Amino acid sequence: MQITEVRAVQPATPNAPRDWRTQLGQILVRVETDGSLHGYGVGGGGAAGIHVIETVLRDLLIGRDAREVEQLHTEMCRHTCFYGRSGLVVMALSGVDLALWDLRGKAAGKPVARLLDPNVEMSRPVPTYLTVFDEHETEAALSAGHHAVKLHVERFGTPPRVAALADLVKRARDKLGDRGELMIDAFAKWDVASTLQVAAAIQRERVAWLEEPLPPDDFAGYRQLVLQSPIVIAGGEHEYLASGFRHLVDSRLHAVLQPDVNWCGGLTTLIEVYRMAQEANLRVCPHRGCEPFALHAIAALDQQPLAESGRRWFNCLDGAPRIENGHVFVPDRPGFGVDVDPHIWT
Ligand SMILES: [Mg+2]
Repeated sequence: MQITEVRAVQPATPNAPRDWRTQLGQILVRVETDGSLHGYGVGGGGAAGIHVIETVLRDLLIGRDAREVEQLHTEMCRHTCFYGRSGLVVMALSGVDLALWDLRGKAAGKPVARLLDPNVEMSRPVPTYLTVFDEHETEAALSAGHHAVKLHVERFGTPPRVAALADLVKRARDKLGDRGELMIDAFAKWDVASTLQVAAAIQRERVAWLEEPLPPDDFAGYRQLVLQSPIVIAGGEHEYLASGFRHLVDSRLHAVLQPDVNWCGGLTTLIEVYRMAQEANLRVCPHRGCEPFALHAIAALDQQPLAESGRRWFNCLDGAPRIENGHVFVPDRPGFGVDVDPHIWT
């Protein structure tokens, strides 16, 4: 199965938030082979990511055997290591890695989840959680069958208005009662002192995790939080490659690791993260797990499966996973089970 072409495009996402997620948006990658199969992946990095694929990775991949997914992943990382290792370059190669995994599944006639665990129960849906903004949305999410909610609290500022934030967390917990988990996402906007103030103010509300309170590379700050926070710290959606996660795991900076399979190095990296986390007895809860690419790994590898709601504005894939009653069904088709309108490549 020889690779004959590698294409990448950035689909229009008119409803995406007006920030880097639009400016450097998600890219679709297609790896073509000399047989009849095409593999599809989603990566990041926008026009810069496409440039890396078209000018560097494409030359590396054309003529190679698409079945050598892990070897090609290693070579893509080595080839880009002087200017890559994290950020846009790894986001771009994540899309290529996922397209190669899609091909591996299609060539075997199996969904990717079944490649990862031959005994996976494809008919068993994965419980999901929804990001919400207030107690009313919390109640609606619960009524829709979601297993848990995560409160979006960026609007409480930097440093956060602790009393108002704690009041919202209490109202959300009151709506949830004992029926669901409650998490908080701080969007890397706080410092150690304000995080500890918030944690102290909301610890009675049984918060399952406090996500990304600090910028992702404030390792000293996270070390302090691990020692002092009464609430478990989650993070890792902006970490890259197994080497980056190795550091987080060895230093035990996050009790819940949240790799983003479309950014962190693709499925090859996500599998490594699951392996490291299992050895260290840490939880993995991938970022946007309801989207098709992380979902197969969650279904096959996760001891405590919980899928985060996906991005409604990234809607160019056909066959996205079905969500019913707060549970998401893993597509039971070869590869990741998604298709793309062929006009998007022209
Ligand atoms: Mg987050």
